[in-house]
Amino acid sequence: MTLFITGGSGFIGSAVIRKALARGISVVNIDCLTYAANPDNLTPALPDENYNFEEVDIRDRQAVKELFSRYKPTSLMHLAAESHVDRSIDKPATFIETNIVGTFNLLAAATDYYHRQSEGIKAGFRFHHISTDEVFGDLGPNDPAFHETTPYDPSSPYSASKAASDHLVRAWGRTYHLPFLVTNCSNNYGPYQFPEKLIPVVILKCLSGQSIPVYGTGENIRDWLYVEDHADALFAVLEKGRVGETYNIGGENERQNIDVVKTICAIMDRLRPRSNGLLYEQLIEFVPDRPGHDRRYGIDARKIRNELGWSPSVKFDEGFEKTVVWYVENTEWWQPVSKRNRLGDRMGLGPKE
Ligand code: NAD
Repeated sequence: MTLFITGGSGFIGSAVIRKALARGISVVNIDCLTYAANPDNLTPALPDENYNFEEVDIRDRQAVKELFSRYKPTSLMHLAAESHVDRSIDKPATFIETNIVGTFNLLAAATDYYHRQSEGIKAGFRFHHISTDEVFGDLGPNDPAFHETTPYDPSSPYSASKAASDHLVRAWGRTYHLPFLVTNCSNNYGPYQFPEKLIPVVILKCLSGQSIPVYGTGENIRDWLYVEDHADALFAVLEKGRVGETYNIGGENERQNIDVVKTICAIMDRLRPRSNGLLYEQLIEFVPDRPGHDRRYGIDARKIRNELGWSPSVKFDEGFEKTVVWYVENTEWWQPVSKRNRLGDRMGLGPKE
């Protein structure tokens, strides 16, 4: 088996690659190494003779096409994307180019390749598109959670670009008979997440004694899933999912952002008590809300549970404890990333303790 994994140097893609290599699967990581990539995410799994890396931008249609001829993949998992909502509001163009046009390039190349293969290869080939629950828009407090058939209603340039890519994948399945799978997952957290997303931002702000920015009143609700559980779910779908189907993936952990932030602060109080005797949650600072901020996401994951037997294995408290400990112990991973991207300058809101 030769598995193409796009975006394999990012947060979730690297978890998927570490898992694939541990299972003896031969992998080609296709990643153009944007600011969000970090080749060090793969260090624990390398060197491995089953690992190949291609520094290719999925916006480059010709380069993408050549990869199919060179490696003859047996399946593809597509994770490469611009993924940060705030950046999509500031600069949407790259989101359109990578998330929509890049996905189109992969679909075009995969379709051309697929139809030239033997019946044996065709039978196993899957184009697995990894997407987000944000395509469904947001929920009121008492609405039922997102189902696979919930109508799309994206709010941000990020979620709109992901929604567009989901539609393209389904259209290629229907029109060109490309065997596809789509998964829509809730918020992930865990080790190796680029430190501009909520969880690592909070941990790093605690560690540097700076104000912890929380949007609005912090009442927005997200469903949190540990990244390793997401990777397991993706393999369950790739290996056992029905062609042409969509599977929602969620953590069964709906929490208000403010509660998540306070949970992290409490873990930090235990692990690294502040030298001035104050609690970390006293660093919380409410900042003006993000435009178009979705209130609540919730996932109904009964389909993947019932059909494929997957369910999250890491409980909220355990997952957050592991994540905080990882960032505390792995300064050599996040310090260069923060410095390279001047994250301290961009997000520093308060004085250093
Ligand atoms: P990430 O930002 O950490 O990583 C994205 C990776 O894609 C990076 O390595 C980057 O270099 C690569 N990439 C970006 N543009 C590219 C291009 N034009 N060509 C080649 N490579 C490119 O993202 P993530 O959090 O790991 O998310 C991975 C996927 O999962 C995305 O498609 C995202 O929409 C989806 N998703 C993420 C979450 C989440 O909570 N993080 C939840 C649900 C779904």
